[in-house]
Amino acid sequence: MRLCRYDDDRIGLVRGNEIFDATAALDLLPALTWPVPQGDHLIANLDALRPALESAADESRPRAIGSVSLKSPVANPGKIIGAPVNFHKHQEEAIADAAINLGRDIKTIDTYGLFMKSNTSLVGPGEGVALRFPDRRNDHEVELAMIIGQGGSDISREDALSHVAAYAIGLDMTVRGTEDRSLRKGVDSYSVLGPWLVTADEIANPDKLDLEIRVNGDVRQASNTEMLIFDCAKLIEYASSFMTLYPGDIIMTGTPEGVGPVRAGEVMQASIAGIGEMSVAVRAHLA
Ligand code: MN
Repeated sequence: MRLCRYDDDRIGLVRGNEIFDATAALDLLPALTWPVPQGDHLIANLDALRPALESAADESRPRAIGSVSLKSPVANPGKIIGAPVNFHKHQEEAIADAAINLGRDIKTIDTYGLFMKSNTSLVGPGEGVALRFPDRRNDHEVELAMIIGQGGSDISREDALSHVAAYAIGLDMTVRGTEDRSLRKGVDSYSVLGPWLVTADEIANPDKLDLEIRVNGDVRQASNTEMLIFDCAKLIEYASSFMTLYPGDIIMTGTPEGVGPVRAGEVMQASIAGIGEMSVAVRAHLA
């Protein structure tokens, strides 16, 4: 199942090149009282809601994907986890490029572990990226994103992928500089998730997916998730050894080589095999 959120927070199923409105199924979500439980309410109930989503979609008239504005398919993640330097060739380019390393030694995820991106940085492709610091390097990083379904702590490697509800394309936008990663990658709109989520049953092996990003048509990054240093299962095992994962938590799995700057007016087109493709416009942030 391919689920998207679009326009005025409508929920749709993507079938072929069309979107079928399934918003009516949200009426079946259990009512919430304060304090609300950790995690995203829709993702937590996704399995239970699935038949209702499918039948609501069956009854709706399709719209072309291009006629809607896509938001992040996860509305309220409890956390967004990032994986620093999780491709060896990205480490090599970071070591070679002073505008990335700023004089620092660059190691890999084995040394750094993970980092957090602010929840408020999350947008969908239709919202685009608003650059905050045009005088600094603002880089694209295309990444496979995992969306946690069943939460847990101390999840074993063997069980890890059964905790994934869905996959999506993630953009871990980054201001280069000396500040902590959590700040430089936590800018409003610097976490893009889309174009929709693809439930895990449709992805046979998340560790063997081609991923690519073009900027104004030029291919900047093209690799495969088989090159990940910490693969998908290890990322979940490792993250959950530090913190409990909840439904809707997003793990961006790390970016391959080819990161580079984007400027206002450019358009990024990111794709991952088995998930789809999304266009994301870059604009200047207006204070
Ligand atoms: Mn990244």
